[in-house]
Amino acid sequence: MGIEVVDTRMWGWEGVTSAYLVRGEAPAIVDTGPQTSAAAVRRALADRGIGPGDLAWIVLTHIHLDHCGASGQLARSFPGARVVVHPRGARHIAKPERLIAGSAAVYGAQFPRYGGLDPVPAERIDAAEDGHRVRIGPQRELVAIEAPGHARHQHAFLDTATGAVLAGDALGVRLQGGDLFPALPPPDVDMQAGRASVAAIATRDPTVLGLGHFGDAGDPAEVLGQADALWAVMADAGRSGWRRGGSVAAVGEAVEAAWPAAARLGPRAHATLTELTWIEATAKGVARWAEQRERDGGDPSSR
Ligand SMILES: [Zn+2]
Repeated sequence: MGIEVVDTRMWGWEGVTSAYLVRGEAPAIVDTGPQTSAAAVRRALADRGIGPGDLAWIVLTHIHLDHCGASGQLARSFPGARVVVHPRGARHIAKPERLIAGSAAVYGAQFPRYGGLDPVPAERIDAAEDGHRVRIGPQRELVAIEAPGHARHQHAFLDTATGAVLAGDALGVRLQGGDLFPALPPPDVDMQAGRASVAAIATRDPTVLGLGHFGDAGDPAEVLGQADALWAVMADAGRSGWRRGGSVAAVGEAVEAAWPAAARLGPRAHATLTELTWIEATAKGVARWAEQRERDGGDPSSR
């Protein structure tokens, strides 16, 4: 794909969490893995010839800890690197206490396995708006594409040299042979924004889609179609589950009926996502979205 997948080996696992090395005069790593992966990422970059003085950019697709948790340590290890992050994420990377507390609430018993986040010095952070360009070399830039839905602080990045789009979690996750899974943790899930983000990525006509979990997603047109359909399925399930039961459990049942996780994922990916607690987190995230829409008095299907 012209971009190198770096396995950040969260929890020692292979093929679950990806970062990307984008080479040029000013090389970038896109995403860092969690704090507990910092040493593995440093080693992976060293193996690829990227020493402490070589990395120019640490680019974050969003500030969930499995994507950004090692950024503080990597910023120390690569003192010339600037950290590029969505404006909604910038202050949390500089002062991570609230982000860490919120993450502990979402990840529950598994939180210690992610680690926390060391602060990045504010003067080394670039808050990147939609369309922000990260210069890698004379013929290569990473262009930020605003991509909320999974998180309000999410960007995808278009690599102008290859036409690849590194999507973070904006399109869902696909790993270990399973179907595309719409990971939708609380608190930011926004179905309408998610569909708009799929459309925004599609207009770039990506040659390759690189996911946060894991690697090359497969045929871009097919994956974009699946991602779009999944937002609609999850919105319907959230609305109907909430109206029936008004609880996370009822929404979880509706999500499972609409998208039977074990059958769609296969045994390996299902076991991984269960241990990660991302399937139950998705029920919570979809339920929270449905509850807020009901409370706001709007029609959730239109949001
Ligand atoms: Zn995420």
